[in-house]
Amino acid sequence: TGLPRTLVDLLRAHAEARPEAEAVVELGGERLTYGQLWHRAARVAGGLRARGVGRGDRVAVRCPAGTNWALAFWGTVLAGGIAVAVNTRSAAPEVEFVLGDAGVTVDLPADAPLPDGEPYVIADPRPSDVVALFYTSGTTGFPKGVPTTHEACVTSAENLGRCLGVPRDAGPHLRTLVSVPLFHVTAFNAQFLVAAYVGGTSVVMPALDLAGLTETLVTERISFLVTVPAVYSLLLRHPGFGGADVSGVRTVAYGGAPIAPALVRSLREAFPQATVINGYGMTETASLITVLPDADAVEHADSVGYAVPSVDLGIVPIGADPSVGELVVRGANVTAGYWNRPDATADAIVDGWLHTGDIVRIDEAGRVHIVDRSKDIINRGGENISSVEVEAVLLSAPGVADAAVLGVPDDVMGEKVGAVLHAAGDGLDLAVVLAHCRDRLADFKVPQYAAVVSEALPRNAGGKLLKNRIREEVRWGAPLR
Ligand code: ATP
Ligand code: MG
Repeated sequence: TGLPRTLVDLLRAHAEARPEAEAVVELGGERLTYGQLWHRAARVAGGLRARGVGRGDRVAVRCPAGTNWALAFWGTVLAGGIAVAVNTRSAAPEVEFVLGDAGVTVDLPADAPLPDGEPYVIADPRPSDVVALFYTSGTTGFPKGVPTTHEACVTSAENLGRCLGVPRDAGPHLRTLVSVPLFHVTAFNAQFLVAAYVGGTSVVMPALDLAGLTETLVTERISFLVTVPAVYSLLLRHPGFGGADVSGVRTVAYGGAPIAPALVRSLREAFPQATVINGYGMTETASLITVLPDADAVEHADSVGYAVPSVDLGIVPIGADPSVGELVVRGANVTAGYWNRPDATADAIVDGWLHTGDIVRIDEAGRVHIVDRSKDIINRGGENISSVEVEAVLLSAPGVADAAVLGVPDDVMGEKVGAVLHAAGDGLDLAVVLAHCRDRLADFKVPQYAAVVSEALPRNAGGKLLKNRIREEVRWGAPLR
């Protein structure tokens, strides 16, 4: 039957059926149709072969997001190699680490021309062949490589498309704007692969540009928007956004980091015609673990929704309440293990269940609520406090542009709650912010330490707060009470 089982078959099918349809557009750069993408990627594959890349060899893709990234990725796929998606924002030692960890045969750095040779396409790719290595974001420790196969990529695209309401035959109607890096799963699986699966277009922004983002939504007729909460928050606050006609956007999906319920309401108002969807997943699951559908988006904005059909969920309780604990997941889209890291694999995958490192609560309706990362949860005298919950309240307080909540070591209580606040343009009044918290949070959750900083809080490429760094740099003043 017609459904492709490898990425090679997938791309070939589009190149043959609709060679003129746009596949990848780089803003301010080239536009590639499926026909061009296929032929040019085959030349890159030929060039890679000439450099010694054979089946299963690793190729480091370090091009900036755009047509070169796509050509490097697909070229590696057609050569039968494994594309290593390197985080281009990493510092030199981190890049060295990944190149060594992956054991790359060929490195494709940002500033070098792509290999070029006689067109080549691997004749017999197997669905079970590893085709790419994606690294976890390194939010809680060193990034870990997660291998993914042809089959996993195709299945992930199919599942994501279904969960996010993309019809299998969407074709050129599906136009997605990629505003977060392609080396993380949010953009790669939920946008780049979904577009490739249905024959749609990935419009790629090489670097985040908010004015350009608003304009592109209109000029590139974007229908499918997926990005991280931090980008949506900046977009909605951007002065140019107000007047723009964004009625062509049919899907507004977010994930990768916790979203403040107030931002979900703003998204609903800003995109009244669109389906608003929260998706929760991780590199290790290649696609989604849970989805909060449009019908629940605002009413249950504090939740990431329901398990997708392909995964089973379990909880390892952290206290007396059996509905609260570390989420463990199992299913066809869960990785069998990390690249080259038997110890990390043994820690993370126990009896077939992947330990997510996320503390969740599952409610009576089966909705998952992310309480916190297990490494960030604050233990105040035996009371578990979700830093994420306190952050959401702080973000809704007047004058607060961004907030990070951390445990502050305390001799008596073990930890107390500390808030690092980035003030909005007009500045903030700490007394007002605390009063706002006291109205909305149990007393023991109200921050007892605060630090107001003038610079934006550090976030990684996926919009996640870098709490390890904030923790190192913060200077707490005297306790507030
Ligand atoms: P590392 O594992 O290296 O510390 P990381 O976990 O941030 O980094 P990713 O695989 O990119 O690396 O991110 C997965 C994590 O992102 C999840 O475990 C979860 O904590 C968070 N996350 C993903 N989607 C959502 C969402 N919709 N809401 C809240 N958090 C999310
Ligand atoms: Mg992780």
